[in-house]
Amino acid sequence: MVRTLVGAVSMPRDSERHAADGPILPGGTLGILGGGQLGSMFAMAARRMGYRVEAIADSADCPAARFSDRLHVGGYEDPAFLAAAALGLDAVTFEFENVPAAAGEALAAAVPVRPDPAVLFITQDRAREKAFLTRHGFECVPHRVVRSRSELVDACAVLGLPAVLKTAAFGYDGKGQRRLKVGDDPTSAWRELGGDAAGGPREFVLEAWVDFICECSVVVARGQDGTTAAFPPLRNAHANHILDLSSLPAELPPEVEAEASRIAIGILESLGVVGVACVEFFVTAAGRVLVNEIAPRTHNSGHLTIEACETSQFEQQVRAVCGLPLGSTRVVTPAAMANLLGDCWFDDMGNRREPDWAAALSVPGVSLHLYGKSEPRRGRKLGHLTAVGPTVAEAVTRVTLARRLACGHDA
Ligand code: AMP
Repeated sequence: MVRTLVGAVSMPRDSERHAADGPILPGGTLGILGGGQLGSMFAMAARRMGYRVEAIADSADCPAARFSDRLHVGGYEDPAFLAAAALGLDAVTFEFENVPAAAGEALAAAVPVRPDPAVLFITQDRAREKAFLTRHGFECVPHRVVRSRSELVDACAVLGLPAVLKTAAFGYDGKGQRRLKVGDDPTSAWRELGGDAAGGPREFVLEAWVDFICECSVVVARGQDGTTAAFPPLRNAHANHILDLSSLPAELPPEVEAEASRIAIGILESLGVVGVACVEFFVTAAGRVLVNEIAPRTHNSGHLTIEACETSQFEQQVRAVCGLPLGSTRVVTPAAMANLLGDCWFDDMGNRREPDWAAALSVPGVSLHLYGKSEPRRGRKLGHLTAVGPTVAEAVTRVTLARRLACGHDA
């Protein structure tokens, strides 16, 4: 019997829980766990293809609500709510991985969940994810798992500074991370991340600082039959630990792109993913490709596939989850994407203002995506701009110009 091993726990796979009875065809109903923008873009793709979409979220005021046929609002820790939400769904996938493992299990008891909740369990925790990568021979950043101040001090001595301390669980978009420079007192970072707080995080990962020449990511879809389709690597630039710009083609040396794609596909195969996942990498000056992290879902860096590829990452997710043939990942045009953070809604004096969308859209090749989030907080992703162009350099120029025109500054 095929089982997914999660630490000492053995979990049944989708195929054991639910008889495989052919693809889920248009007209079927798909559930998406999480209410964010990845869910709304999934819903747009699925509804265009003739599916009903029901979002399962912990708040009614969420981007996915605008594009779903139905929204279930309740707690991700409430198995009864999740079991009720699953009624009538043909399959569920994720747009957000920071949910209790029990949430995935509660859904999986009622409906096929793709990828399997066991994948979520591994990838939602940096310590488990790195243990998985190491066990399967995928090279990741040198690191130590730390559970106390003294373990942190020891880890700093072993790995050296600079380094970055990250909470093992529930970290995203730079949340739960502190960079430690040479000479810093590591215990301040420990305190700032809540290491001493009652009910604070219990487990952290200290990572050596990687002096990378660039970051890239590979979005891969894997079908129930094991077929995989990888989008070409995306080149990513982060600001303050949050994705800022992505571009395609990445224009990395061909052997680096081939290696990143090979590793990403290998990871999805080892995890037994059915659906879409993204693997983020650091590329070093020596051409080494180190895994940074895995997202068991579509990814911010893949948003530009909507404009740039024959199939978008969201349509690909629909196809993979429904057991349909995967679409072509061919790049039809160079493209670049710039995130729009809440900062764009504030001027240099910190006063609220509306960005100048007309100015942004005056730039050739630019598309605007706004997620409909009500509150523009600094550092919060509220939308993105994509630009297509004859070359990737031109697409990057266009998208950064469009963002500067909209926001008045480069944010
Ligand atoms: P993460 O949430 O772990 O993907 O981190 C967000 C971003 O912070 C990464 O994409 C990098 O730009 C930066 N970062 C995180 N960890 C490291 C590291 N060990 N070395 C260098 N940069 C890092």
